[in-house]
Amino acid sequence: MADFPSTARVVIIGGGVVGVSSLYHLALKGWTDCVLLEKNELTSGSTWHAAGNVPTFSASWSVMNMQRYSTELYRDLGERVDYPMNYHVTGSLRLAHSRNRMMEFERVCGMGRYQGLDVDMCAVSDLKDRHPFLETHELEGGLFDPCDGDIDPAQLTQALAKGARDLGAKIVRFCPVTEVRRDGDEWVVSTPQGDIRCEKVVNAAGYRAQEVGAMFGRFVPMVSMSHQYLLTDPVPELEAWSNEHGAKLPLLRDVDSSYYLRQEKFGLNLGPYERNCRAHWITADDPMPDDFSFQLYPDDLDRLEWYIEDAMARVPLLGTAGISNVINGPIPYTPDGNPLIGPMPGVPNAYEACVFTFGIAQAGGAGKVMAEWIVDGGTEWDMWSCDPRRFTAYADQDHTNQKGMEVYGHEYAMHFPHHVWPAGRDKRLSTIHDRLKERGAQFGVYGGWERANWFAQPGDDTSDDASHTWERGGPWLQRIREECHAVRDAAGILNLCGFSRYTVTGAGAADWLNGLITGTVPKEGRIGLGYFADEKGRVVTEMSLIRLADEKVLLITAAAAELHDLEWLQRYLPAGSGIVIENRTEDFDCQIFTGPKSRDILAGICDADLGQPWLTIQRTAIAGKTVHLFRVSYAGELGWEIHTNVEDTPAVYDAVWNAGQRHSLKPFGMFALNSLRLEKGYRAWKGDLSTDYTVLEGGLDRFVRWSKDDFVGKQALEIEKQAGSKKRFATLVVEAGPCDAPYMSTIWHGDEKVGETTSGGWGHRIDKSIALGMVRTDLAAEGTALDVEIFGDRRPAIVQADQPLYDPDNLRLRI
Ligand SMILES: Cc1cc2nc3c(=O)[nH]c(=O)nc-3n(C[C@H](O)[C@H](O)[C@H](O)COP(=O)(O)OP(=O)(O)OC[C@H]3O[C@@H](n4cnc5c(N)ncnc54)[C@H](O)[C@@H]3O)c2cc1C
Repeated sequence: MADFPSTARVVIIGGGVVGVSSLYHLALKGWTDCVLLEKNELTSGSTWHAAGNVPTFSASWSVMNMQRYSTELYRDLGERVDYPMNYHVTGSLRLAHSRNRMMEFERVCGMGRYQGLDVDMCAVSDLKDRHPFLETHELEGGLFDPCDGDIDPAQLTQALAKGARDLGAKIVRFCPVTEVRRDGDEWVVSTPQGDIRCEKVVNAAGYRAQEVGAMFGRFVPMVSMSHQYLLTDPVPELEAWSNEHGAKLPLLRDVDSSYYLRQEKFGLNLGPYERNCRAHWITADDPMPDDFSFQLYPDDLDRLEWYIEDAMARVPLLGTAGISNVINGPIPYTPDGNPLIGPMPGVPNAYEACVFTFGIAQAGGAGKVMAEWIVDGGTEWDMWSCDPRRFTAYADQDHTNQKGMEVYGHEYAMHFPHHVWPAGRDKRLSTIHDRLKERGAQFGVYGGWERANWFAQPGDDTSDDASHTWERGGPWLQRIREECHAVRDAAGILNLCGFSRYTVTGAGAADWLNGLITGTVPKEGRIGLGYFADEKGRVVTEMSLIRLADEKVLLITAAAAELHDLEWLQRYLPAGSGIVIENRTEDFDCQIFTGPKSRDILAGICDADLGQPWLTIQRTAIAGKTVHLFRVSYAGELGWEIHTNVEDTPAVYDAVWNAGQRHSLKPFGMFALNSLRLEKGYRAWKGDLSTDYTVLEGGLDRFVRWSKDDFVGKQALEIEKQAGSKKRFATLVVEAGPCDAPYMSTIWHGDEKVGETTSGGWGHRIDKSIALGMVRTDLAAEGTALDVEIFGDRRPAIVQADQPLYDPDNLRLRI
């Protein structure tokens, strides 16, 4: 083909709204030598038939950021690119059937206002003023979002396409990508029209993303759910109301009943997320067709019967109208319902922008994020919630199918802090899982690994229902308290299976790592914390560094960070350096063993020199098995991490357990650990530690070795140090009431918003509610009185000294 490009900087595979938005945003950043290839016509995937709802509401800070950005972009996109389109900003009402739901709304309102959105709570008596055709039975109130609305998805895509083309980017339609291959540092993307050589490739293939991912040797965890909405004939009352008011009704979401209902022209559009949902293309007798462009699944209204009846009772007008059309199309789901946006795991210079369940609402923000990944190597907002690397090997097809169905059927569900979703479990088990279970472990999932959250006693209510609360209190509270006190007074053991770990070996390994972390690699035989910053000085990750030998360093990091941190290391590894990084995550297990009696217990079962100080490591044997003892404690007491070969773990665990019985050793869980670490001010990854903050803002100055020649982020941090940080990490003690501060609760100083919490919880050793967060630097001084907004309630809080609340001099760690 004469004008078919043979080279490009970036090739985007897929011309749905997300691929086209990515192209537009690349072009906006000056990357115009980019080509989008679409198998059929633009929008022919899921985009053409989407209902076009554009909410900003999300309980996730980063997803809300994306959706907010989308609404801002769409507002004047038509004018900016000279492509008029239908975007109705009607506002929306979200209905609450319970006090818990109102609390969820309060929290999201707080986050929304912090992001500059004008969201507001509604009493039941206000609801009819907002929506005249609504019945208010069984309601507690609602939330009004004035920025919500609906857009024509095809027009939106075409507007973005026009914007991209006008800036110089190319779109080739009816051009399926059939193969990709690596040639040196380039990708070669094959199509029936010819090959394109390029630097970078983006998989934006929507519900075909798994098929395209396979071309890269990548398994994309996704399942296509069937989602239906029905359209009604025009309703005369609605037409009359609309004409009289010159407006459309606000979009309605009855989230507890699980549907949206909005005006479409003078009729209605009802879209349920039904519990008895259906996944497609997951069995051999239901294969995905080679081409499904502009196609739909057959109608299946029986599944929606309950929802239709419920909606007719909520808005009786619906019952007066006949159904004119049913749309039943594929919506792709990942195991957690968030899309994949970011680097393609394990594949160089390849990215994913796919598996969107709310792609119309998120495309604007996703395009911005994708362009930042490609052009800048990182994003303005921390986007871990959508990072493809959050799913590791556990997210196989079976897990994905189970979770996809669960998330779809609970699309609007509340995510309570002590609740654990049941589907797709037991994918990664420790070899002592059954022992923990026998002792009453209530498991949670961490990077696919099942870890005990807390240990129930006979008679405790461990039902799913009991965990449907935002409050601290529940059947777990007394148990968590006992576990924390056992750690304080005697000893506790926690199976931290799935700690991600890599060995870095070879001449120059330590020097190389020194160039990556802000501090220094510890001496041989010692362990230390290393903070990895990006070029902007922002916190990428935190890892424990254990110097096993002169040129051998073991790095240990969060279970969820397995692929993320590995890729960060690989990204900076110079070719031909001879340094080798090995992922040893699956080979070892770890027990956190801590408390004042831990030394006495270990003394009875090993010959280790237990007088060796804090932050030392040694090898010894327990029950005839080699173990490594690291003298550290995330709980803030005397203690060791006991690292074992996976197969040796049961014998070692039993030996410690049996020896501990006469010292009142107790098992403890992740909920207790969270309480214990908050009291020590230890930061948690992707809550307190994220690329939303720099190392200096994070109060990690003591981990920065300024005298080093260089390290990633040094220049940016030096500039910040001179200018002064705008925000500063602070520990607050909060008069919290029944709920502790959730992530991203607004911090107030009088009527000014001055910061946000990054984590919160109850400290059972100090008997106080603790919030860690970021506040304006001038307000970070000890004793400053602030308020933390917890579920809409402003609770008094005091900034604490910049030291741990519990055992500030670390005396208990060092004894
Ligand atoms: C009934 C229904 C209602 C919905 N309502 C809403 C809503 O109100 N709001 C909302 O935000 N979302 C809604 N969605 C979801 C929304 O439709 C999707 O999230 C969105 O369209 C995804 O866009 P995309 O660009 O990622 O994928 P798609 O639109 O599916 O685009 C992917 C493109 O990739 C192309 N492609 C695939 N393989 C290849 C290949 N090998 N080579 C080249 N091209 C290829 C396909 O042809 C396709 O055009 C709804 C979905 C359904 C089913």
